[in-house]
Amino acid sequence: MTAPGRLVLIGHPVAHSLSPTFQNAALRHAGIDLSYEAFDIQPARLAEAAERLRAIGACGNVTVPHKEAFAALCARLTPIAARVGAVNTFWTDDGALIGDNTDVGGFEEAVAEAFGERRKWNSVAIIGAGGAAAAVAAATERWRGSRVALWSRSAARSATLADRFANLRVAASLEAAVSEADLVVNATPLGLRRDDAVPVPVQLLATHACVFDLVYDRLETPWVLAARAAGHPAADGLGMLIGQGALAFERWFGRAPDRDVMWASVRA
Ligand code: NAP
Repeated sequence: MTAPGRLVLIGHPVAHSLSPTFQNAALRHAGIDLSYEAFDIQPARLAEAAERLRAIGACGNVTVPHKEAFAALCARLTPIAARVGAVNTFWTDDGALIGDNTDVGGFEEAVAEAFGERRKWNSVAIIGAGGAAAAVAAATERWRGSRVALWSRSAARSATLADRFANLRVAASLEAAVSEADLVVNATPLGLRRDDAVPVPVQLLATHACVFDLVYDRLETPWVLAARAAGHPAADGLGMLIGQGALAFERWFGRAPDRDVMWASVRA
């Protein structure tokens, strides 16, 4: 890999992202003289931005809404990025953009951290059928024996995603998707705004269900708070965000960042 000359996050919007906070804390702690910068790139300018990043030998992350489109602009994809069909981490190798996906590993790391390393998830429900749902689906595919019920408001989008993963089936309703699930994952943006509806009313959850919300908030999301109040183990997406960022750091620099430093910076 070409040594990173610039380290960037591209998305639209990006101003709200916590990634610069924890990546810059990790860079300082590791004594690496680079800063991680966020750039708001309009979708129409993505190809031009990718070419500029390639030309200067940049590394970085890609966020909403560019993950799928950026994958198509990379010269090569890692197997997991190809499986998900989306890139959240990239670097430049010999003048070529290489795309990877650390959302999958970040999700697995965060679920293990929140609910226990040895937990076996026989029945999983994924709510939402976009890029993040594809990353979660790719993770469940690596968990031997996990059956996944998928529900989203768009039947066509659910069917397209379920066609790509043999362990997924489209549920007939939200109630049916979650009724027996021992892990329920929100992969919609519901909860980004405090007045959003919850993705799954907690009374629909099985008594033993654990709840994982991909949405994150420094104050924890309304769904996580409601689930926990009803006795369900629950975690929001901050652990996944830190996990995917830490794995990306390892790809760029060949060594792990200090995750405690990353956590401390977002909690400050
Ligand atoms: P996406 O590709 O736009 O997909 C979003 C999914 O949610 C689609 O199925 C969409 O349905 C559905 N949806 C959108 N608004 C909805 C609403 N008001 N009610 C019900 N369903 C709705 O987005 P994504 O990239 O998958 O990201 C989803 C969420 O995960 C975002 O909030 C993102 O920030 C979060 N995320 C977090 C992490 C992390 O590290 N914690 C990583 C990745 C993503 P339609 O197709 O009908 O619009």
